[in-house]
Amino acid sequence: MSIKEKIESLREELNQHNYNYYVLDNATISDYEFDIKLKELEKLEEENPEFFDLNSPTKRVGGGVTKNFETITHKNRMYSLDNSYSKEDLLDWEKRIQKNLGTTEIEYTCELKYDGASINLTYENGEFVRAVTRGDGFQGDDVSTNIRTIRSLPLLPKKDFLSDFEMRGEIILPLEGFHKMNEERVENGEEPYRNPRNTASGSLKLQDSTEVAKRPLDCLLYQVVTNERKYKTHFESLEAARSFGFKIPETISLAKSIEEVLKFVNYWDEKRHDLPYETDGVVIKVNGLQQQEELGYTSKSPRWAIAYKFKAEQVTTVLNEISYQVGRTGAITPVANLEPVHLAGTVVKRASLHNADQIEKLDIRVGDTVFVEKGGEIIPKIIKVDTTKRPKDSEKTVYATHCPECGTELVRTEGDAKHYCPNEFGCAPQITGRIQHFISRKAMDIDGLGGETVDLLRKEGLIKNYADLYELKKEQIIPLERMAEKSAQNMVAGIEKSKEIPFEKVLFALGIRFVGETVAKKLAKHFKSIDNLMQADLETLIAVDEIGDRIAQSIINFSQDENNIALVERLKSYGVQLEVSAETLENLTDKLQGNVFVVSGVFHEMSRNELKKAIEDNGGKVSSSISKKTNYIVAGDNMGPSKLTKAQDLGIPIISELDFIEMIK
Ligand code: AMP
Ligand code: ZN
Repeated sequence: MSIKEKIESLREELNQHNYNYYVLDNATISDYEFDIKLKELEKLEEENPEFFDLNSPTKRVGGGVTKNFETITHKNRMYSLDNSYSKEDLLDWEKRIQKNLGTTEIEYTCELKYDGASINLTYENGEFVRAVTRGDGFQGDDVSTNIRTIRSLPLLPKKDFLSDFEMRGEIILPLEGFHKMNEERVENGEEPYRNPRNTASGSLKLQDSTEVAKRPLDCLLYQVVTNERKYKTHFESLEAARSFGFKIPETISLAKSIEEVLKFVNYWDEKRHDLPYETDGVVIKVNGLQQQEELGYTSKSPRWAIAYKFKAEQVTTVLNEISYQVGRTGAITPVANLEPVHLAGTVVKRASLHNADQIEKLDIRVGDTVFVEKGGEIIPKIIKVDTTKRPKDSEKTVYATHCPECGTELVRTEGDAKHYCPNEFGCAPQITGRIQHFISRKAMDIDGLGGETVDLLRKEGLIKNYADLYELKKEQIIPLERMAEKSAQNMVAGIEKSKEIPFEKVLFALGIRFVGETVAKKLAKHFKSIDNLMQADLETLIAVDEIGDRIAQSIINFSQDENNIALVERLKSYGVQLEVSAETLENLTDKLQGNVFVVSGVFHEMSRNELKKAIEDNGGKVSSSISKKTNYIVAGDNMGPSKLTKAQDLGIPIISELDFIEMIK
């Protein structure tokens, strides 16, 4: 077997295993065997870069970074759907299309309305080439790099389906994976995500595809778009797509009349809570493609399809108590503790009350009978009060005036919906929360120390702030609950190792309000040390690209606080990186200022990521796709042919890796 054949056969085999596992949910080899084969392929691809293929199963783990998602015009517009809410609505719709088509012989496909983010996938010559978000229906964002990581999505579908076509579907986050992600976030001291839909659509726009690859996303497909007349009905085209490896849910069903459609609707209204993902309704489509074409579109949606929205489920129950939770930033969230009640497949004991205004507006009182609804959010909401059931001795709710954790008087600034506990350095959940943030993966990334242990260490009086971590001794840790020699050793080693974490991450770890990961990176690059940053005045701060008043003021507040000054000094004394390292500094220039680069192909002197970093370190910008704004293309081996033509058409200079190195010398 030639190397090429070997590579191809491994790719085919691994694709088949991915399909078995992620689409059929029926693995035929162990994870271990799969990994061995994947490694083998990786090695072969590395040694033989001429066979590079973005659609290889080795690319599923991500790696590509997209800084700016390119806007792409859809070849076929992505329409909305009309909504219906009742049997009458559906019967009206049926009448309209019967009249329109001049026949009552109409068949329907019933599908669930998958609740996620819509996506359009383009396949050319039977290969995946692009994934674009719906956007405004006319134009969307190119998120191909991220979509490639979704294992259930065939990049090289089985041969002979169609040659050039589009698949439309929904990127979803199944509930189990969503809950797991949230458990991890809570463990790391991060805020849990609110619902699977937003988390799924947020994932599409993450810059680092490695992060996307870690999320258990899935892609459920619901439409084949093609000019070929191979299939006569929508249902038939979906069944065919499934047989060629696309994940078309088995729940789709044919109906001969609206009566049968209603059976489907009623069945799933009940059963939807048993599904592994969320659905908020049913989509009904005229099955015949010829009939679809005749019906056509209104300015917003196809006439041949309609969505039926399930009613959000509501129940009534009694509000037993209002309690108050204190978050990492000191924000107070009121929580309704309810008489347990069944709702949408779970037992509900608590509901969110949002803030003081909400309680005031609905006049919610302890002892009230309240209507609880479960919408898209995981935590149900109180919709209204049944005042007819209000007890005689009921009293108006007085919002908490003091922090339930530390007793400090709460504050509320103009225009802010939330109350805050201002006792940043003395309030237990805030102390724990700040330290949990400090050690989290994207901050100091301390191995051997988890969120719960932080809380334990604080309760035991061993730490009061993040600087205290660096004073921890193994001997202090060992006697604690669930700790032993080995775990204590790991913790101390993990903390020690964090002294190597680069300044930009340390800056993020400090937990300055509004200074997230990206802002921290910008500030680190601009100011180069914590001292420069803390000495900067408002004007200097605002002058930095993308730093506004709100962030600038927050940095100033931080920098003027005695506690913070002392903490930063202590971190410095332990050897934590509070300035950009000399090595990084040496590589930082503005030689490439104002230039946009596209990187394509396989490189030898440095990895793709190193190359991209070098561009940014020298003031340039990296874009994932070629446009008029591109100044240079750095081409390695096997640059994609479509990219090459596009570059030549636009007359953009193509430079080699060595040319590039010369540029930044
Ligand atoms: P809307 O956003 O309310 O106009 O609804 C249209 C959206 O529903 C489409 O953009 C799709 O993303 C989504 N959708 C979910 N499931 C389906 C389905 N089975 N068929 C068509 N669209 C669906
Ligand atoms: Zn407090």
